Amino acid sequence: MLNIVLFGPPGAGKGTQAAKLLDRYQLVHLSTGDILRSELAAKSQLGLEAKRYMDKGELVPDEVVIKMIEGKIDGNAGAKGFIFDGFPRTTAQAAALDKMLEKKNAPITMMLALEVEKEELIKRLLLRGKDSGRTDDQDQSIIENRIKVYNSETAPVQGFYEAQNKYKGVHGMGSIEEIFKRLCTAIDSRKKM
Ligand code: ADP
Repeated sequence: MLNIVLFGPPGAGKGTQAAKLLDRYQLVHLSTGDILRSELAAKSQLGLEAKRYMDKGELVPDEVVIKMIEGKIDGNAGAKGFIFDGFPRTTAQAAALDKMLEKKNAPITMMLALEVEKEELIKRLLLRGKDSGRTDDQDQSIIENRIKVYNSETAPVQGFYEAQNKYKGVHGMGSIEEIFKRLCTAIDSRKKM
């Protein structure tokens, strides 16, 4: 299996690149943000609980997202591999993911991290807020809080994968195609190892 963690701050372009990678490598996309938003649209109890955190730019509790991802992995038993997008966002989530995949004998292949400067992130998110209507992208203070939470809780996940020799940083500025090529090169060279 090819199991990729796509990593990077809010607005780094994970969703855009994930869509292209799925197509190229025939993977299943698991975006916790997308799953939470569809739970919210369906007004499920999970969605309504998650909303309280998402609206403030805080993280939804680990146990909630971990259970949710576990359900999706089990529900895609025939998959060739997964792209995890927006997950794991804490080291506790990363450890839980390793455990789940251990049971399947299909560890994480690598973490690909999109590196983008903060000013560019805020610009992209505000633009996305106008186009998509995502309320957490429309308010500069919620965006700033998400970046703050990213730096304190999510950035340490990099070290988790570095310790396993699975971390690969990729320059995340430039055209969508250029960035996609960089990601594919990183994946293809890892696959040959
Ligand atoms: P972005 O990458 O732009 O921040 P996402 O769509 O990945 O947006 O996530 C939106 C919101 O959903 C986050 O701000 C957070 O509240 C919640 N969320 C998504 N994934 C997770 C996760 N793995 N753990 C906790 N909360 C999450």
